[in-house]
Amino acid sequence: MKLAIIGTGYIGLVGAAVFAEWGKEVVGIDIDRKKIKKITSGEMPIYEPGLSELVLKNIEDGRLKFTTSLPKGIKDAEVVFICVGTPQGDDGAADLSAVWAVAKEIGQSLTSYKVIVVKSTVPVGTNERVKEIIKENLKQKVSFDVVSNPEFLREGSSIEDMQNTDRTVIGFDSQKALKVMRRLYKHLKSPLVECDLRSSELIKYASNAFLATKISFINEIGQLCERAGADVQTVAKGMGLDKRIGAYFLNAGLGYGGSCFPKDVVALYKTSTDQAYDFKLLRGVMEVNDLQKDYFLKKIVSHLGSNLSNKSLACLGLAFKNNTDDTRDSVSIRLVKMLRGLGANLKVYDPEAMENARKELGKPNITYCSSAYEAVKGADALCILTEWMEFANLDLKKVKRLMKAPVIFDGRNLLQKDEVESLGITYFAIGKKTNGLTEQEDRPIYAILRDDKNK
Ligand code: NAD
Repeated sequence: MKLAIIGTGYIGLVGAAVFAEWGKEVVGIDIDRKKIKKITSGEMPIYEPGLSELVLKNIEDGRLKFTTSLPKGIKDAEVVFICVGTPQGDDGAADLSAVWAVAKEIGQSLTSYKVIVVKSTVPVGTNERVKEIIKENLKQKVSFDVVSNPEFLREGSSIEDMQNTDRTVIGFDSQKALKVMRRLYKHLKSPLVECDLRSSELIKYASNAFLATKISFINEIGQLCERAGADVQTVAKGMGLDKRIGAYFLNAGLGYGGSCFPKDVVALYKTSTDQAYDFKLLRGVMEVNDLQKDYFLKKIVSHLGSNLSNKSLACLGLAFKNNTDDTRDSVSIRLVKMLRGLGANLKVYDPEAMENARKELGKPNITYCSSAYEAVKGADALCILTEWMEFANLDLKKVKRLMKAPVIFDGRNLLQKDEVESLGITYFAIGKKTNGLTEQEDRPIYAILRDDKNK
């Protein structure tokens, strides 16, 4: 089976490699010449565990090719995947300009029947519009179908996730296309959810919004734990063992970030308001998420003061989650910026995201370090911002020795409170008893800064 994948980013490149590994002949297409040049010269444009090996193996085996030409890339394909980005637009809705551009070019280039599959995360009604755009741009009389096949993989474990997906959603309006999709995924053991286009589009947003809701929920429980003298990790464990709830996405921390959850939650809320429905729960999810990073900042400010200009802080973790180099909408990056805004000198380190972080943060007040230990040297406090295992396994005695003052703010509950405190390190985490803020310390961050300035 011959496939074309348009957009070779975090989704498209992984998809192309996995499909090729499944024995399909795949052409990856991207308008970014530098990206295609990089991939074909054997260098991955992103960090994803196992990706480099999989891409190189399949290129070598002749099943995986890349091009910048969409007409050439899709010419022989039976199935064409659209995997371009759908970032948040100015009004909160998904910016679909890349999807529309690709649909137009597909229409202009179509020479034989193909199934066009929209894998990008797109709002209700987009697949229907893609169909219209392709039709409007056809240069010759040729038939095609459009299928919605949203992607559920997680960066950091995307190859494993795609190969062992819990379910594959196929939105369709043509039996012919459905048969092609069944053939494509016939070896998968997990269920195929076959449905109409609009339900398929909504399954993706509803899933991400539900996971974001779990995160905001456990963060609220964390707030309660701090006030009530309980421990959020213990509570989450007890909850998560219930199969109806499940253990995933119950880690209290700094709130959700990354290139999907924030934009998808906002886009779903926008879809709701467009449909004249006020999705009340989602408003709460977004508000809690926004406040969560402020709460962490307040813990730092309540201990070190709001003028951090004579402080050196070590920040470990810049990617939006572990096992990726992706810093798009990363809460860690946001916090680094906020700390810099309070005058702090920051020594930052991430195992994979340094290059992307450098682009987002630039130079002022930031020293980029090549190890966690280099970052903590001489620091007045250490902030753990991303849940890399490397940080969970730090030699804390060494950390304490290197720091100017032994204080850790653990935004991901990565360390063991008892162990850290037994070494004489002052430890602040999320949702732990004795870690909460007083009512006075828990005022809005702007009020704290204003009052401190007027002192
Ligand atoms: P990305 O930005 O990493 O990749 C998009 C790629 O599309 C880029 O390489 C870009 O150059 C290319 N592109 C843009 N316009 C093009 C055009 N006209 N022709 C050819 N290529 C073009 O984005 P991503 O993270 O891979 O996300 C892609 C889609 O998948 C989004 O809709 C996203 O919401 C969805 N998704 C992402 C994830 C994730 O974890 N990243 C998970 C599930 C779904």
